[in-house]
Amino acid sequence: MATRFDVAVLGDGPAGDNLARALGKAGQRVLMVEAAELGGECLNAGCIPSKALIHLARERGHVPWAEVQRELAKVTTEIRGSAADGGLPGDGVRLVRGTASFAGRDLQIDGEAVAAKQVVIATGTSPLMPPIEGLTEAQPLTNRTLFKMRELPRRLAVIGGGPIGLELGQALAMLGTDVTIFASGAIAPTEDCDVAAALRRHLIASGLEVLESVSIGRVRRTDGVVTVSVGRGVRRFDELLVAAGRAAVIPAGAVEAGLKLDVDGFIAASRCGKTSLPGVWAIGDAGGGPAFTHHASYQAHHLARHLIDGRCPGRPRELLVPWAIFTTPEVGHAGMTEEGARRVHRDVRVVTLAANRVDWFRVARQSEGFVKVICDSRTGRLLGAHFFCAQASTLAGEAALAIQMRLRVKDVANTIHPYPTSSELFRWACAALVE
Ligand SMILES: Cc1cc2nc3c(=O)[nH]c(=O)nc-3n(C[C@H](O)[C@H](O)[C@H](O)COP(=O)(O)OP(=O)(O)OC[C@H]3O[C@@H](n4cnc5c(N)ncnc54)[C@H](O)[C@@H]3O)c2cc1C
Repeated sequence: MATRFDVAVLGDGPAGDNLARALGKAGQRVLMVEAAELGGECLNAGCIPSKALIHLARERGHVPWAEVQRELAKVTTEIRGSAADGGLPGDGVRLVRGTASFAGRDLQIDGEAVAAKQVVIATGTSPLMPPIEGLTEAQPLTNRTLFKMRELPRRLAVIGGGPIGLELGQALAMLGTDVTIFASGAIAPTEDCDVAAALRRHLIASGLEVLESVSIGRVRRTDGVVTVSVGRGVRRFDELLVAAGRAAVIPAGAVEAGLKLDVDGFIAASRCGKTSLPGVWAIGDAGGGPAFTHHASYQAHHLARHLIDGRCPGRPRELLVPWAIFTTPEVGHAGMTEEGARRVHRDVRVVTLAANRVDWFRVARQSEGFVKVICDSRTGRLLGAHFFCAQASTLAGEAALAIQMRLRVKDVANTIHPYPTSSELFRWACAALVE
């Protein structure tokens, strides 16, 4: 390719796409290289199809699988847009379909050399296969194949008790599948202990089987039946979904060229995305860190400012990455858990407020759940807020803002929130900490 680009971006997921468009709009000569579909894991096999599936299952319960698939395809196409080039050229980005690799320090696309002053690796992750005997041979479903499966299984085993396994497992259970979750430790291990316990109780009460601290000995698929061996017992299922973590996708030749990885195989990168290779940056899930679309997009805009201004801009002192688990009820996570706060702060105050104390939850007939808010006893500064209730994913946004802006519980308590809304749950919990 004759053109010499200012920046070559490898991968059109949320990280690469946001970066490329920001640089293109700023007048840089940008090349986007994408090996598969535009939009990355999030749009094609992650956030979007999973949330569309959950929405449908919540609203309508037992929906035929063919109808679910039609709806998921519709939503994905709508969000991607109909243009084959994703509208990238309109934002000043040249798109090339192909697989990027390194030959020494040189970048190639499907073996053809490309010249770029800077290269940004935004190649994301792929599903991790835990080392279980027979697992690969049993051809389990992953998030990349689940949405394309031909029919809804009657009995599904899920390996993995993190957000992906819980969200997809519960959604398929709502559609009518018998679901068993196998977790090597506790489910939802990143959550506050009260939230994880409430989620566990809810899942079990709604009919899922949740097996924790389980070590799977072997998996087999014979004549359409999947067997999972645990201890001396053998369980039989129609399908198996693996959602047991993610592995970084590293372009071929990059490590040989000197790209350093961390102990987990993710690209070792500085706060700004600088890697061990001069002129090579890494952002998004491939660089480790919180694996969320909103984090990948944040990193993209941060690096864009750097590549445009030539310096690493400062970040807020308290960079907080909130997240949600889109189970029903949802989990919303902002800031420290109670256990985490007690490790760092000498005196903390904690309040738990039931959702049914707030009128919106009663009006909406979604009164299950609670919020737990944690603050520093001495200063009243907010440290964490953890929601397990309807609209928890949205509520975590306000809590994240309050914590990042170093607000005190009385600041939130003194802010009038509209009635009747779920947002009052956070305000009332903060007010309880002031009293
Ligand atoms: C089932 C599931 C549900 C999820 N739900 C949520 C959610 O609700 N909210 C949330 O915030 N996050 C969610 N995530 C996480 C989210 O999808 C990721 O954090 C996000 O996609 C990361 O973006 P990325 O740009 O780093 O990588 P990716 O989205 O993985 O994109 C990487 C791109 O690089 C391309 N690529 C790879 N190698 C090459 C190469 N050598 N040359 C050219 N192109 C290449 C790939 O084809 C891909 O398009 C979910 C993930 C999964 C799996």
